[in-house]
Amino acid sequence: MKGINLIGTGDCLHEGWLQTLKEKLIEVSDGIFALKGHEEGVQFILQTELIFTCNINNSKNRKSVHIVFLFPSYEVIDRILKLFEKWEVKNTIGRPFVKCKNNKEVGDRILKIYDQDEFIEVIPAHVMTPNGIYGSQNPIVWLKDFFGEAADRIKIFETGLSADPYILSLIPELDDKTLISNSDAHSPALNRLGREFTTVKIKDMKFESIIKALRENNVIYTSEFNPTEGKYFLTGHRAGKQGHNTSYCIYSPKFVPEDKLCPICGKKLTIGVLQQAMELNKLQGGDREYGYLPPGRKKFVHMIPLIEIIGAYLGIKTYTSKKILKIYSDIVEQFGNECELWFTDQNMIQKKLSGIIDDRLIETINTIKSGNFSFHPPGFDGAYGELKIGDTIDIFEINKIYIDDETKKLIEKRLSNEKSKKKMKNLNSFIK
Ligand SMILES: [Zn+2]
Ligand SMILES: [Zn+2]
Repeated sequence: MKGINLIGTGDCLHEGWLQTLKEKLIEVSDGIFALKGHEEGVQFILQTELIFTCNINNSKNRKSVHIVFLFPSYEVIDRILKLFEKWEVKNTIGRPFVKCKNNKEVGDRILKIYDQDEFIEVIPAHVMTPNGIYGSQNPIVWLKDFFGEAADRIKIFETGLSADPYILSLIPELDDKTLISNSDAHSPALNRLGREFTTVKIKDMKFESIIKALRENNVIYTSEFNPTEGKYFLTGHRAGKQGHNTSYCIYSPKFVPEDKLCPICGKKLTIGVLQQAMELNKLQGGDREYGYLPPGRKKFVHMIPLIEIIGAYLGIKTYTSKKILKIYSDIVEQFGNECELWFTDQNMIQKKLSGIIDDRLIETINTIKSGNFSFHPPGFDGAYGELKIGDTIDIFEINKIYIDDETKKLIEKRLSNEKSKKKMKNLNSFIK
């Protein structure tokens, strides 16, 4: 339905899941698997995420980084599991922790994993989210600050939902790297799986060929989730957090308070991807503007899951709604798969869908195709952006603090406490 040919298995080092994979899948070509009885259908490669953790720059600050690993065979997985035993890594959860002392140990261990087979690939995952290599949690400046000696060896980076090549091109040390885009193999939901994907040029469908293509940046294009919809695009604190009932604040980079503290709860704001990338640009000695692309950067497109568009049109937020699913399958049937719809021109869309779905929904789809939409507010602090069709916004001009009455009272009470007075100076002026 999505139009995707190859999916990562997820969690392939987990004992139970590994057993399931061995039972249900059959190897159809080197390192490529398919569901038994569905050999012509969707194919899989052995894949997992690991979380590496270490202390940064000899400080007490621990950073944890999600990393995607691709493995060519079960034999190689056995070798990795032996290493895990030696390192005392528990593989009882789907995404195991590899706890290291410092960046040297991270580097040594990643190189050790690379040593197990020439086609193992190591790909820092969703690099800009708080748990990504460049994430705002205990931030680093250079890859080697976390990856040590392995930094130069790593060639492929995953953009993640809140970032796209525009954002990652603000970071100079990524200029000669391959950028790929993947979404979530954990969820089969139609609005989750295939939100992002990578199209590569390969001569045959073999694990080795895929890895070679990625290493040589033989990417035709990546399909990106709209970063402004991503959960960590702008800086702020969302509603529903402690001390935040229905209050929230959200800022484009130039409006973020200098102390980076939330005017509502006084705690550190969750720094958004856009701001984080702009800061890294400066720290790495760049003077780039948003929109810059280095030579050799591959093409990319932005997509919005069709399910979400139908949901927004109908005003239904439960994406498993029967009504939404029926319309979804009616549309997909006309195009073969969802991706195909986005690569079809507007006239053709009109022709194919006329009489199949409401004319106004066809119009909505074409409005989206022409770029007349926005996510308003954009994603921030773990909340997805909200799709508004037929309305555009300037992501550099958002400066919004909303405080409900209840929170206002709480804050005033807190302000009467001498100690927190200083901290809350910002807000004091705001409330007055
Ligand atoms: Zn992750
Ligand atoms: Zn707050």
